[in-house]
Order: sequence, then structure tokens, then C-alpha cells
Amino acid sequence: MNTIHNFGFLFLSFLFVACGGNEEPIVEVIEKDSVIIPPPVIEYGFVLDSFQVKRDTVEDNWTMSHMFAPYGVSQWDINVAAERAADSLVGLRYVKEGVPFIILSELGDTSETAQYFIYPKNIVDYVIFDFRDSVVVEKQSKPNEVHEKILSGEIIQNSNLTFALDQQLEDINMTGEMAEYIAGVFAWTIDFFRLHPGDEFKVIYNEKSVEGTPYAVGGITSAWFKHQGHEFYAFQYALDSTGTQIGFFNEEGKEMRRPFLMAPVKYSRISSGYSGRRFHPVQKRWKAHLGTDYAAPKGTPIMSTANGTVIAASYTSGNGNYVKVKHDDTYTTQYLHMTGFAEGIRKGVYVEQGQTIGYVGSTGLATGPHVCYRFWKNGKQIDHRAEKFPTSVPMVDSLLPSYMEYIKPIRARIDSMPITPYIVEEEVVDSVQ
Ligand SMILES: [Zn+2]
Repeated sequence: MNTIHNFGFLFLSFLFVACGGNEEPIVEVIEKDSVIIPPPVIEYGFVLDSFQVKRDTVEDNWTMSHMFAPYGVSQWDINVAAERAADSLVGLRYVKEGVPFIILSELGDTSETAQYFIYPKNIVDYVIFDFRDSVVVEKQSKPNEVHEKILSGEIIQNSNLTFALDQQLEDINMTGEMAEYIAGVFAWTIDFFRLHPGDEFKVIYNEKSVEGTPYAVGGITSAWFKHQGHEFYAFQYALDSTGTQIGFFNEEGKEMRRPFLMAPVKYSRISSGYSGRRFHPVQKRWKAHLGTDYAAPKGTPIMSTANGTVIAASYTSGNGNYVKVKHDDTYTTQYLHMTGFAEGIRKGVYVEQGQTIGYVGSTGLATGPHVCYRFWKNGKQIDHRAEKFPTSVPMVDSLLPSYMEYIKPIRARIDSMPITPYIVEEEVVDSVQ
């Protein structure tokens, strides 16, 4: 270290000594005669050095009384605090087992009567209970950060998208969110029930984090998916300056959104495909299966795969509770074995693509919870997965040049991204005989 630097450091220390009356917390560590004055510890906006700090954790079956009573809070104040916490602005009706909370009391107060309690509601939000005077309860949030991130991966044998994403994202909630975003962008293009080993994906997305810890996916901005050798690009683009008409478009400027979703449920598996002949599991005889069965847990939302009008929301002994939606003069879809209909679903109502119309069940002739999805074209049942639907309308010509200019660097970036290989965990073999 050179002398000039040291000299500068000394000078800086003097400067702070000279401003001794300043009550503002000094954030940097000041080195003075090799004594290190640590920066003040600030947590949830409180300078902890100015309080007696205790930490505790909510135990099984605790109410707010269990939290507050040992620290000199009266039953009256506890009731007031609980009532204010339950208010919609705070939204804390009960405390959860295992949540660590902080108790702040006045320095030197041997009775440790609480002035404040800090209760983290989730990774971002926390609740401050202020018992100094009248009871004040308020919800605060830690500053949220959004960073652009990339990820890539591949689908391996006997695996799916969630499994592949699980390797890339540390947070289990983010894995689910990311799968939802990717499946959402390509819902009209790729049959996620038919992913193949060797399918690959690359994504540019926004990651939300708080204090450096990622906790949520803030949306995808562009993505690429290679499915059975075919490459699909998707770029988010606003068609107007206000950003209200925002959507995903492919590399030619065609909107990703199509007339029909590929499936009426997210994340399930096809338990029985469309076929002219199969052994019926309940009736124990060979008969045609003119639908596609998607097995999913009871209660999973079933979506209308396209805009249309409900022409039946009814029950038969074979179909169980079912909904039939007429989309246009050519296409009608039908959804069987529901445990129940979604609110407001009845004959005559208009439903939008992706709208929940009912929930997976096993009413009618069904061995387990699934939705039997039937697709009618000109009055005949067909295999929707073999049907080639009309592609979407391209972007208007006047917008195309600026769109193509906009996606050029993004596409180059995606193309240059390597695929993160799937890491197969190796079995540890003891080499010592
Ligand atoms: Zn079926």
C-alpha cells in the first residue's frame, strides 16, 4: 500500500471526527489507529444498535398473544394489534409456525417491554407492530430488484420441462412459474405433452430479487424452443407506444397466439390418446376412444381451448359433468368427467380461450381423475393433435420493419447462448476394496 493512499485515509478519519455531532449513521467502515468502527446494523429500516434486540420464532399453535404477552403488551393492546393486523392493508390474520420475528425494546430497559415487533410476512413484505403509544400496525416491503437473466436447458429421457428447469433455478416456486411462462408463450405452438429427449430451450427473463435473493420470475421477454428439430422463436413486443397491445411474435412477426390451445389443462400427462380402438378400463371391452385423456389431480382447472359459447354444461352417466363449447361453425370442443363447473358456467355463456370452465374430477365412467377432451370438426370427432390449424395473422406491414430491427440483436444473443447441459448426478462408487 502506498503512502499517499494511507494519508488520504487518515484525512478521511479526521473529517469524520470533526463532524462528530452528526447523527447520521456512517455506513463505511472507518479505520482509525487500527480500531475498526463497524457500520450500524440496519434491519427492516431499524438501526438495531439503538435498541435491545431479541429474536424469537413462532411455535406450533401460536397466536399473536404468545408472541406479544411475554414482552409486557397488555391483552387489550394484543386484541387491538390482532384486529389491525387482520385489516386488508396488512393482511395478517394468523402467525405461522417457524417464522422468526424480532422484538425491539428500549436500551437499558430491564423489563424488556417491547416497543416494536417485526414479523416477516414473506420474503418481501413484513409487518411492524408499534406498541410505543397507541397501537400502530403497518405492512412494509423491502426494496424489490429486477434483473435480466438468461437460462437454457434440454429435455432428457423420461423427463419434462419442470424437471429440466429444476436444475437451473434454485427456488422451487420459480421453477413452477418459469414452466408456466414458457408453456404460456408456446401454448399455441408446442405440444408440451409430447416433448422429446433432445428438445432444447433458451429464455431471456426478468428475475425479481430482494436483498440479493431471487424469489420470483418477473416474466419472459424472449424465448427459443427446439422441438423435434423445429426451432421456434418468441419475442415480446408492444404494438403501440403505450404498451397496452403487448404480445409474443415469432421471427417473422406472426403472433404466437392461435385459435386453439394445445391442451385444456397445464401440467398433466396424457393417460390415453385418441384412437379408433382401445380396451375400456371401466366397461371392460374394446371400443373406440374418440378423445384424449389428460390425467391431473382432482380440482385442476380445465380451460376452454378457444373462445366460444357454452352449448352444454350438463351431466350424463357416461360423461359425468361435462361442458361443450361451440367455437364457430366448424369447431366444437367437449370436456368430460369434471368434479364441478367453474362459477357462472352454464349454457349460453361466452367463454374466452384459457378461461377456467370446470375442474378435473372422475364423474361418469372414469377410473381416476382426468379430463377427456373431445374435439369436433364439422360434427365429427377428430384427433385434435393431428389437426393442422390455421396459423395466426401476421403483424401489419407498417410495423414489421421496426419489429425486425428490434429482434435482430435479441435473436443474435439467443443464437449465441449455449445450452446448459443436463448434469446427471453420478453415483459415488467406493474404490477401496
Ligand atoms: Zn376419454
